[in-house]
Amino acid sequence: MQRIALLLVLLAGVCLSAAEPTITLPIRFHITQGAKMTVKGKVMENWVLPADLTGPVLAEVNRIWKPAGIQFVVERAQAEALLKPANFAELIQVVENSKRGEEEIAGSGRTVAIAKLLDPAQRHPSAMNVYLLPYIGATYQGYANIGGKQAVIGVWTDKASGASKTPVKALLVEPEPMKVGSLARTIAHELGHNLSLQHPDKSEVSKVGRLMGGGKQGYALTEEEIAKARKTAQKHAAK
Ligand SMILES: [Zn+2]
Repeated sequence: MQRIALLLVLLAGVCLSAAEPTITLPIRFHITQGAKMTVKGKVMENWVLPADLTGPVLAEVNRIWKPAGIQFVVERAQAEALLKPANFAELIQVVENSKRGEEEIAGSGRTVAIAKLLDPAQRHPSAMNVYLLPYIGATYQGYANIGGKQAVIGVWTDKASGASKTPVKALLVEPEPMKVGSLARTIAHELGHNLSLQHPDKSEVSKVGRLMGGGKQGYALTEEEIAKARKTAQKHAAK
């Protein structure tokens, strides 16, 4: 009798997952060119290749998002020039000199400065647009608009040292425990913001490391996060 009950539970599980199809979202990667950023004497340029993104990084992002039934495909991974407004050098300096503790999501000087460098003509109208810059400010690896379709990632990072040391190249992927920071996790995390997820309370004690942060960093998504992300992903996919 118990076995039959267990079988029914298993069957119900199979039917449930079959009823929730995988949602596929396209990404356009913008590998920005033309900016050299210098912090503590380290001159940083963009070093990422399209094959890094379409290969190991995409595979890891999709591994992380698989439990949510959300997968990403690369529409294009292109090198593209940053805009060169008259105050270009000044805008770069704002990013180089930004300090730890400034607002992550929007409204700080660095995010405003970076927005003025991104070419709107290169933006895909409906795909997720992920921009890679050499560096995006002290201790930050990425930021994104919540529920939107744009994320900005730094390929050099000083997060691990709290900006007390010179920035280092981010890893493409990184197993736990996270010591340097990886492009794959940062992109997966920022896509989480694009799919309406926010950071959990830092005080939240968790045994598993979570993609969106909290007490411990990792790759896990909660059932609630999955439901919320799928809802936004469906909206994104429909447009
Ligand atoms: Zn975040």
